[in-house]
Amino acid sequence: MLNIILFGPPGAGKGTQAEKLIKKYNLVHLSTGDLLRSEIAQGTLLGLEAKKLMDEGKLVPDNVVIGMIEHKVKANPNSEGFIFDGFPRTEAQAGAFETLMNSLGKPILGLVSLEVDEKELVRRLVERGKVSGRSDDNEETIHKRLVEYENKTRAVAHYYSNHNKHFRVNGIGDMEEIFSRICKVIDGLQVGSK
Ligand code: AMP
Repeated sequence: MLNIILFGPPGAGKGTQAEKLIKKYNLVHLSTGDLLRSEIAQGTLLGLEAKKLMDEGKLVPDNVVIGMIEHKVKANPNSEGFIFDGFPRTEAQAGAFETLMNSLGKPILGLVSLEVDEKELVRRLVERGKVSGRSDDNEETIHKRLVEYENKTRAVAHYYSNHNKHFRVNGIGDMEEIFSRICKVIDGLQVGSK
């Protein structure tokens, strides 16, 4: 199985690249941000509570996203693998996630992090905000999201570094070029796991 975490700060290009990867490798794309936005669109209580935090650029509670991911992984028992996008975002999420995936016999092969400098991230997110309609793609919230990333999320990569499963990819440049950099890493992982 090909279970990959696509990692990086907001605006790194995770969603865009995940869409391309699932087609090439026949995987399921699980984005906790998308799952939360779908809860908001459906007007559920969970969505209502999550929206407040998302609009403030804050993370939603660990147990909420862990529960969503567990549900979705179990709902796709026959998939050839998963691309996790925007999850895990805290060390607590990473710990629970490792336990879950190992217990299901679906271990994580690697965490691929898209490296993009902050100036470029802000530029991309402001641009995206003009068309995305996302209430958190405004300059004030973008900065708060980047602070959450530095304070809580960046450390997730250390766990995978310690297990030699952290792969850095330059996330600047042409979309197709970045895609082929990621594919190179994934193809190497697949060879290594056979
Ligand atoms: P994203 O679409 O990944 O940029 O996520 C948008 C927002 O959803 C984030 O700013 C958080 O408020 C929330 N969110 C998404 N994924 C997570 C997660 N794994 N843990 C906590 N909050 C999350």
